[in-house]
Amino acid sequence: MPTVAIIGAGMAGLSCASVLVERGWRVTLFDKSRRAGGRMASRRLETVHGTASFDFGAQYFTVRDPGFASEVARWAEAGIASRWPDAREDAWIGVPTMNTVMQALAAPHEVHFSHHVSGLARENGRWRLLGEGMPAQHFDAAVLALPAEQAAPILALHDFDLARTALFARSQPCWTGMFAFETPLAHNPHTVRDHGILAWAARNSAKPGRAGPESWVVQASPQWSTAHLERTPDEIGPLLLAALGEATGGTAPVPLAHSVHRWRYALSAGTGLGCLWNETQRIGACGDWLLGPRVECAWVSGRTLAERILGEAREAA
Ligand SMILES: Cc1cc2nc3c(=O)[nH]c(=O)nc-3n(C[C@H](O)[C@H](O)[C@H](O)COP(=O)(O)OP(=O)(O)OC[C@H]3O[C@@H](n4cnc5c(N)ncnc54)[C@H](O)[C@@H]3O)c2cc1C
Repeated sequence: MPTVAIIGAGMAGLSCASVLVERGWRVTLFDKSRRAGGRMASRRLETVHGTASFDFGAQYFTVRDPGFASEVARWAEAGIASRWPDAREDAWIGVPTMNTVMQALAAPHEVHFSHHVSGLARENGRWRLLGEGMPAQHFDAAVLALPAEQAAPILALHDFDLARTALFARSQPCWTGMFAFETPLAHNPHTVRDHGILAWAARNSAKPGRAGPESWVVQASPQWSTAHLERTPDEIGPLLLAALGEATGGTAPVPLAHSVHRWRYALSAGTGLGCLWNETQRIGACGDWLLGPRVECAWVSGRTLAERILGEAREAA
């Protein structure tokens, strides 16, 4: 049974893993975070009025690919995804949090969390992972399911053509604020788009399946986020709160709880290549940046790479 190490347990890595496991491969995933999901991220904040929850990465996803449509239909059937027409007619979300879908996708797999892969070593035609606490195990194939900027330095030591593709694929950052309030803001629609420095704001507590106090997720525009990238969360928080107040027609009250997150690689440019694969060395890459800056693109890219790996394996047999 061939073995593969997938680095990155976000949507692309998990979608790649599912296909390979279905076809009998032995897959081990590694992620630097403490949980699966990558940018399909959710966080909870405790307040005196209960737990506030926030989807602070992807806000919703849309569905065009027929394979992804079938997958989303399975999630809906299982009660872990729902439509969110307040955002747009064809918007879907995870329930009760965006990250719930990712927990379900990760559950059947062997995932090593808190494992930051710093590089790969090629030994006797197989791959060993480098980084603190990595197993001594060797793998037949290696998949980098990471943002382009994080994949590039690892690829560069083994295949400069693949690395060059990653080096040219730049992402845009996103400063994100999460705010829980005692009382609802006086703003009727649950979302705000393109207002001042904000690209988006949404009343998270109004999404289907959510409970807890009034809570908002606020995302600065890529231009503003880039201009303020190296400022601290303490500096950014009040600016995002003020922007939310302005966008919702008043001054935002002092929040019950808040948090600020900097996504350095939030929205990829998208190369349209689908995936990258070096069949001689058996190293490849998948991720949204190989198609476009959307959850669905990450899912499709992961599957595309898995099919490519399996196609090569069949031909070689
Ligand atoms: C603020 C924001 C808003 C967004 N809004 C939307 C939206 O509304 N709709 C939409 O469709 N998409 C949206 N997106 C984009 C969407 O989230 C991504 O396209 C998708 O989740 C990318 O999945 P991925 O698997 O390619 O990458 P990721 O989710 O980034 O997964 C990569 C994984 O690799 C791990 N990792 C990185 N480096 C290492 C390392 N060296 N070692 C080990 N692990 C590592 C990370 O921890 C992460 O878990 C948004 C993204 C952000 C950040």
